[in-house]
Amino acid sequence: MLTNDQLALWDRENFFHPSTHLAQHARGETPSRVIRTASGVHIEDRDGNRLLDAFAGLYCVNVGYGRPEIAEAIAAQARELAYYHAYVGHGTEASITLAKMILDRAPANMSKVYFGLGGSDANETNIKLVWYYNNILGRPEKKKIISRWRGYHGSGLMTGSLTGLELFHRKFDLPLAQVIHTDAPYFYRRADHAQTEAEFVAHCVASLEALIEREGAHTIAAFIGEPVLGTGGIVPPPAGYWDAIQKVLRKHDILLIVDEVVTGFGRLGTMFGSDHYGIEADIITIAKGLTSAYAPLSGSIVSDRVWKVLEQGTDENGPIGHGWTYSAHPIGAAAGVANLKLIDDLGLIDNVREVGAHLRARMAEALADHPHVGEVRGEGMLCAVELVEDRDGRVFFDPARKVGPQVSAAMLADSKVIARAMPQGDIIGFAPPFCLTKAEADQVVAAAVAAVRKVLG
Ligand code: PLP
Repeated sequence: MLTNDQLALWDRENFFHPSTHLAQHARGETPSRVIRTASGVHIEDRDGNRLLDAFAGLYCVNVGYGRPEIAEAIAAQARELAYYHAYVGHGTEASITLAKMILDRAPANMSKVYFGLGGSDANETNIKLVWYYNNILGRPEKKKIISRWRGYHGSGLMTGSLTGLELFHRKFDLPLAQVIHTDAPYFYRRADHAQTEAEFVAHCVASLEALIEREGAHTIAAFIGEPVLGTGGIVPPPAGYWDAIQKVLRKHDILLIVDEVVTGFGRLGTMFGSDHYGIEADIITIAKGLTSAYAPLSGSIVSDRVWKVLEQGTDENGPIGHGWTYSAHPIGAAAGVANLKLIDDLGLIDNVREVGAHLRARMAEALADHPHVGEVRGEGMLCAVELVEDRDGRVFFDPARKVGPQVSAAMLADSKVIARAMPQGDIIGFAPPFCLTKAEADQVVAAAVAAVRKVLG
């Protein structure tokens, strides 16, 4: 077996890590961790550390680590048929079954699922489909996409543009011109602190209306949003937000893409976030929880309304010019079938509701009165603690102080609990696997409390 020193050296010399400070990593200044194995909610590194992963990887290992049912489904599929493509009508038992399982769980107006590999490529697909849709309908000018500041939709050229986080734009010449951003439905950070929730929703609606007016509704194809803002800070929308936004979109004939990469398949305590908030999507993006990340797989679920136009398009123009080599990869599909079955068989969505509520309630009890905790929030098995310099004045910390990263580092070092310092703001994010127990939730809370006290007193 290779020594850890050897691996660390090869890592620095050869491995270009995503979302990493490249120079510091290459110089060996940042911590690196080699993960060896995992089970339930715990991962283990090569140094023998056992860590409670309260972020489920990147909010994706929803059923927890080390599930033999999924591992065996993957192995059986690899032995029988590791690969065949899905072009020109080809399929496998796994991919056809999975498409049916997804549609059986999706909102009633959904019609078909296109398979990709990850959330970013699924959203790239969605934008292409929306453009194609408007071309087929004879309105070639209707192409702009409205996204929200703090939305996260991937890091490709289009999807990095949709993402409304500065780090993903800076020095990359993004966003592309076809993408425009509107307000984040982030009540805690509203500019006018005197606004009530209802007034803030009215403000979000007015600013969306103004944007549409400015650009011209005839130029705007779609609006994309996550039911709950994820990477932008784990922010559930204010009450009534989705109803009010949908009214505007319908009025202007703007399609709605609901990005359920994080919320799909149970994270909010309902099968989809769309069910939770009464959202009627034209396209739904799925990834992460579709396979619980046991294999890369994503999907674009398209509604009847969109599907009909796509059919018309291929009648007029021939086969759709869109496809990936690995669309509907049989191994990913086999993982997806086993994963969705496991979620049902173990009643994991019930556990999301019960233990998720427990986690948030305990976190709030323990931290809400701390002078540097501005808000404890969340939904389902999602929780966030927002740290502030001055709670009453709602003054945020100088980002250069890196308060959030310090707190998550202290949780890891002192309590062996992984939480995520969210990228924009001093926000500690929690998105544990759905199988978290109440005792484990209490451990997460204790770790957060100790770390907040250590860093902020
Ligand atoms: N959409 C949402 C809501 C996400 O949270 C993510 C990733 O975190 C993506 C899209 C992009 O997915 P991927 O990283 O698999 O490309």
